[in-house]
Amino acid sequence: MIYNFTGLAALIIVCTILNESEDPALLSVPTLHLVNIALHLIAGLCLIVAGRSFRGGAPLGLWGLSNLLYALGFLTVTSPLAGSHALIGNLIGNLLIDAGTVVAYVSLCLFLKSPRRTLWLLLPAGLFSLAKVGLFLVIGLYLPANVVLGCLCRVLLTVGSAWILWHHAEPELRPASGVLAGFQLIWAVILVARVVWELGIVIPTGTIAHGDLGGDPTTPVALLLRCCVTFTLTLGYLWMLGRRLEMRLNRLARQDPLTRVANRRALWEAGDSAMTRAHQQGWPLAVLMIDVDHFKSVNDRWGHGVGDRVLTAVATTISASLRNGDLLGRVGGEEFAVLLPDAGAEAAANIAERIRKAVEMLVVDTSHGSVTCTISAGVAMLGAHSGWDRLIDDADEALYRAKTGGRNRVETATG
Ligand code: GH3
Ligand code: MG
Ligand code: MG
Repeated sequence: MIYNFTGLAALIIVCTILNESEDPALLSVPTLHLVNIALHLIAGLCLIVAGRSFRGGAPLGLWGLSNLLYALGFLTVTSPLAGSHALIGNLIGNLLIDAGTVVAYVSLCLFLKSPRRTLWLLLPAGLFSLAKVGLFLVIGLYLPANVVLGCLCRVLLTVGSAWILWHHAEPELRPASGVLAGFQLIWAVILVARVVWELGIVIPTGTIAHGDLGGDPTTPVALLLRCCVTFTLTLGYLWMLGRRLEMRLNRLARQDPLTRVANRRALWEAGDSAMTRAHQQGWPLAVLMIDVDHFKSVNDRWGHGVGDRVLTAVATTISASLRNGDLLGRVGGEEFAVLLPDAGAEAAANIAERIRKAVEMLVVDTSHGSVTCTISAGVAMLGAHSGWDRLIDDADEALYRAKTGGRNRVETATG
């Protein structure tokens, strides 16, 4: 947040200095419109192309579309082709910019999967926007009304966007979503300033010329800030997207694709840090090695597809028998391991027995009939001076004894 407000302060100082300048070309409204058109056009096209290049990129494409609507809106507001219809161009351009804000808001709701109720904000925002058309039909064109109603529509959606970014972004997106929320608020502040200005100083109807809003200082400042905000929002959106893809890849790299439990890498990493903690704090640490009995015959009899379903059901059953903080991982074909932090020998053996019974009761219904299976388990405790590899070897040795002792049983390591 502090960066946002520092940024806002710097921008306001720059804008004020530029605004106070004697040189009329320094903050020329037509030039700023042109820069905004180019910036929104480039951002829109890049985001649409980027959104099409991967699955789930629809919100990004919508964000791009909103930029194109902004570009078209600015173009319509300033187009020399509008000629004597400049005021109509202003109304249509304003409506296009409102539409761009609406599409950006929807894109953000979809991207962050915010609750449906957040879409209700579109209703008052849309009413503000449509009120411009109503006013035009009743009293004709009146520029201050266009500006005020357009700004109110955008203020609502901009503050709403900041709220969604702050409250509905995953914690992993936090730095990026916080910066974006801050910039949305900065943009809302300048929009409110425009409303205050327009309400305070009534510009006589019909005096508008191209790019001249009757000496209104908020217009050039808003246009300059819009450039900065668009640039930051585009980068911020891509930043959030990058973080999300990174999280997804990270998750995939640590998850077994069939059963969705941790894979060997994740379990080994967790085991290593649990072991360090256990040694430091003097807490117990147990590991279970679990192997499905005669699983080859399940495959042989029912086929590989049913075998996969049984493995998934066994993983779900084991997970349901664990405590909070325990970690189940699939370490081989039909082999699982469970990390039991802070579990003594007796507690670990009880958990293993609970798992064994739960799997014994498990029935997997298939189109060919019901399939049942059993597991064997080995329990091992971390010794005061032994390491992770020794713990796994001990659990394996106990598992081997459970197998040779007749299967469907739990054995505890002796070492
Ligand atoms: P034991 O009681 O001694 O453990 O006998 P077993 O048949 O379970 O052990 P074995 O090692 O002979 O066979 C394991 C089988 O697990 C062989 C392999 O086809 C099957 N398997 C390994 N991974 C998968 C998988 O992802 N899906 C399916 N359906 N089967 C798998
Ligand atoms: Mg087996
Ligand atoms: Mg095996």
